[in-house]
Amino acid sequence: CGIIAHVGSDRALGPLVTGLEKLEYRGYDSAGVAVKNGNGLDVWKCSGQVSELKDTIDTVESSATLGIGHTRWSTHGPPSDENAHPHTDESDRVAVVHNGIIENYESIKQILLSEGYEFTSETDTEVIPNLIAYYLDRGNEPLAAFKHTVADLEGSYAIAVVVDGNDSIFAARQGSPLVLGVEQDGYYLASDVPAFLDYTDTVVYLEDGDTVEVRTDGVDIVDENDQHVQREVQQVDWQP
Ligand code: GLU
Repeated sequence: CGIIAHVGSDRALGPLVTGLEKLEYRGYDSAGVAVKNGNGLDVWKCSGQVSELKDTIDTVESSATLGIGHTRWSTHGPPSDENAHPHTDESDRVAVVHNGIIENYESIKQILLSEGYEFTSETDTEVIPNLIAYYLDRGNEPLAAFKHTVADLEGSYAIAVVVDGNDSIFAARQGSPLVLGVEQDGYYLASDVPAFLDYTDTVVYLEDGDTVEVRTDGVDIVDENDQHVQREVQQVDWQP
């Protein structure tokens, strides 16, 4: 029910967990984060409170500067550690957080199962990392694999994605909120401004149909007609 993502020059885990705490007011049953470290993706997730996730993460030493986080309000599959986000493909190349519902997940899942992709959760969301993996396996670059995947999805979503070996966060929205936070040397993506208001009050509200690539040094927003667009940068007048 809440998404947070961060890419910057500083350690990402702290802001990700802070973001999840700030999103708690939206209600949730599970929480998790994924970061890109030097040699792969690390994922921590569990059903229950953000504080429980934080207890685990507080024991972790990670200098990762790029990651995603999620608080879940389950729609497909009960609250459990396995159903908590982020979801990954079998080879842990792709991690995804998602708010909303993928209406055509059953048909996508059938195709992917017949192609040998494996599923471990009961969520609709798990088709997303596997579909990205499917497109990567067919020679697509990460951005293209992400765009092909988004084009295949029906339903409502805000999603944020990290791909191993890639320094970008990919995101998209259709019917679920997603806002970009802009900092001197980094960016946030979140379901709502309070998630990153401790760090920046400079925001860009994304629109339905937008796909976004966010790097430490810049953002590329493409609209539903596949046109590169500049969206208004705004200063919010909210107190953290
Ligand atoms: N449909 C997804 C699930 O059940 C996402 C739910 C949400 O928006 O938190 O896992």
